Amino acid sequence: MAVSGQVIVVGSSNYDRTTYVDSLPRPGETVTAQETRESIGGKGANQSVAAATVGVQVVFLSALGHDTEGTVLRHELGERGVELVDLLPGTSQRTGTAAITVDEQGENVIVVSPGANGAHLPEVTERCLAKVGERVGGDAVVVSQAEVPVDTIAQASAWAGRHDLRFVLNIAPYTDLPAEVVASANPLVVNETEALALLSSLGRAVPGGAEDADPVELCRSLAGCAVSVVVTLGARGAACLVGNRVEVSEPPAVSRVVDTTGAGDAFVGALAALLAGGRSLPEGVRLATELAALTVTEAGAATSYRVWTADVLDHV
Ligand code: ADP
Repeated sequence: MAVSGQVIVVGSSNYDRTTYVDSLPRPGETVTAQETRESIGGKGANQSVAAATVGVQVVFLSALGHDTEGTVLRHELGERGVELVDLLPGTSQRTGTAAITVDEQGENVIVVSPGANGAHLPEVTERCLAKVGERVGGDAVVVSQAEVPVDTIAQASAWAGRHDLRFVLNIAPYTDLPAEVVASANPLVVNETEALALLSSLGRAVPGGAEDADPVELCRSLAGCAVSVVVTLGARGAACLVGNRVEVSEPPAVSRVVDTTGAGDAFVGALAALLAGGRSLPEGVRLATELAALTVTEAGAATSYRVWTADVLDHV
């Protein structure tokens, strides 16, 4: 599968520090960790790395601090083939961090400190987008998620619209966004929890009740709120709504589920790359479902996208 094209990601970068413990500490308790790992994180960074790993050219607009964490992230993004455009040059804000603790059962608690990701300078964002616009092709795909301010997402959506570029919107974590931003998404990508939150904010009924909503009906009930809709379903794959038709793609059986962290980001980044490479939405969803499933067999988020070797990408 040779994929070429351009993906422009407007989103978050975090420095993840993951500590592995036997059991999660209770309030006031101190426990000793087995080990701590540090890695690239944040939905924007993960999706950028995923798209670059699939093979497209990726430009990532993100706000990082000028601290040790920012330096490590800049280096790692470069190593993974992502070109970073800084949305807060010279800022004194700290780089976003995520303190993640995982117990023996894989249960986790996460504290995110958004730092620079939470800041928004509209004129700088506009200037950066304008510069990127000078060198994008008409097939480029713009991607955003909800770990950055709503105004930043709205700017990315409007910019994509002005340039007639496809806009992929992943409302993760769920955030209320202006209806016109959601409407511009092609596709809107949400997991089941986010789909339920979006339906509730739209005042629409949940088919079959929130507990055991049928995925096909869940996807169908989001019709009309965006150009197209994709609902990811964890181990059950993903459902894709185009027009009035829902197609469900099931993932291949995986040898062993080790860590599902970043599987959603793998899916969105791969899908954006495939769409930029000219695949249709149903085809892109089918292939992204397969690729995302492979990442759950490895530990870590962006780290696990290394399972997409040239050999794997050739045979997907
Ligand atoms: P999120 O991480 O955003 O909650 P999902 O859990 O829906 O997203 O997963 C996104 C994609 O990752 C799925 O569509 C599927 O391809 C893959 N995936 C996630 N969990 C598993 C699993 N346990 N087994 C196989 N594939 C999985």
